[in-house]
Amino acid sequence: MAVNILIVDDSGVMRSMIQKSVRMSGLQIGEVHQAANGQEGLDALEKHWIDLVITDINMPVMTGEEMIGRMHERPEMKAIPTIVVSTEGSQTRIERLKHKGLKFIHKPFSPEKIRDTVKDVLGSEVFNESGA
Ligand SMILES: [Mg+2]
Repeated sequence: MAVNILIVDDSGVMRSMIQKSVRMSGLQIGEVHQAANGQEGLDALEKHWIDLVITDINMPVMTGEEMIGRMHERPEMKAIPTIVVSTEGSQTRIERLKHKGLKFIHKPFSPEKIRDTVKDVLGSEVFNESGA
């Protein structure tokens, strides 16, 4: 099974870094979509079949937290595994996200951290056996 991914971050450089890390991870990837804020993320979720969302929190127009809130109001979106990648320093906010069942990765991150977290969320069967 190939996994369709949506990467949401207002930094194009960061989106590229996340995409590169995911590609290096050995994950069987289908389509990769990118969005620059939560609203674009929701638009992409409406248009495409997405199996995994990797999102920033702090973005203009709509934050990642608000996007996740909207996703949780939508039956067709609420079960999509979501990983938050952020510089967020507020422990309260991080705990709130974790209580919603989200995985949290601090920026800056290592490609290994991305791989391990994606594996944690999706299981190792969607990875190539040769995947490092
Ligand atoms: Mg940001």
